[in-house]
Amino acid sequence: MGAIARRRFLAAGGAFAAMAAIGRPRPAAAQAAPASAGPPDPKLVEDLVAANRILVDQGVLDGYGHVSVRHDRDASRYLMSRSIAPELVTAVDVMEYDLDSNPVDARGRTSYLERFIHGEIYKLRPDVKAVVHSHSPSVIPFGVTGVPLRPLYHMSAFLVGGAPVWDIRAATGEATDMLVRTPALGQALARSLGTAPVALMRGHGNVIVGTALPQVVFRSVYTEVNARLQGQAMALGAPITYLDPGEAQKAEASIAGTLARPWELWKKKALAR
Ligand SMILES: [Zn+2]
Repeated sequence: MGAIARRRFLAAGGAFAAMAAIGRPRPAAAQAAPASAGPPDPKLVEDLVAANRILVDQGVLDGYGHVSVRHDRDASRYLMSRSIAPELVTAVDVMEYDLDSNPVDARGRTSYLERFIHGEIYKLRPDVKAVVHSHSPSVIPFGVTGVPLRPLYHMSAFLVGGAPVWDIRAATGEATDMLVRTPALGQALARSLGTAPVALMRGHGNVIVGTALPQVVFRSVYTEVNARLQGQAMALGAPITYLDPGEAQKAEASIAGTLARPWELWKKKALAR
């Protein structure tokens, strides 16, 4: 650290201030926009538009939440809508970001405050090609009670390894507005996700990843349905038999070959409007 930088660091309160700053947005830096990877495959953009609308139709997204996909030409770029309600997204709203979540060509369009969720997961998970962040309602109780979300039936077999719960208060050590507003918070969430397909965000929502848009949409829909069914099963008050690991492994492999079926139906309905 140079003398000037050190003076600034000390003036800001040193390491203590740096730690506390994890939950606060950095002031906008005057920096050049990252280079574009070039135009994405129009089919990918069409699928991203469809994914936004499908997730609203299925009760996962509402006026809030977002879905992104990794750029087909460059793994260090991803695509996501500008900051509007998911049901209103069209192809012209889709923006390109680098993995620090800087927009490539904002042209006055605003970005989602919590876009760092997406960029930081793409950095840590090369296998991930699509990310959904939602506040899907039936999942919320599992993030605040310590009751683990578990696969109740074959459609949600992907939950067999469990869904880690990330608590923003543990990451910042202070009260926040619960939003993932900074790269540091996005990275903390991505680390909590680890190799899992789903992470719950205490008092906020969840994040779900997949290897393609149809898979991440499927997982988002059936995470919500499983949470609803698990809550209903628990309310019956009797012991619950969940899928065991062997069943879950076989069920997931079997379902994986059929994802095109619901996807085509959901997409057709979503784009007909
Ligand atoms: Zn959120």
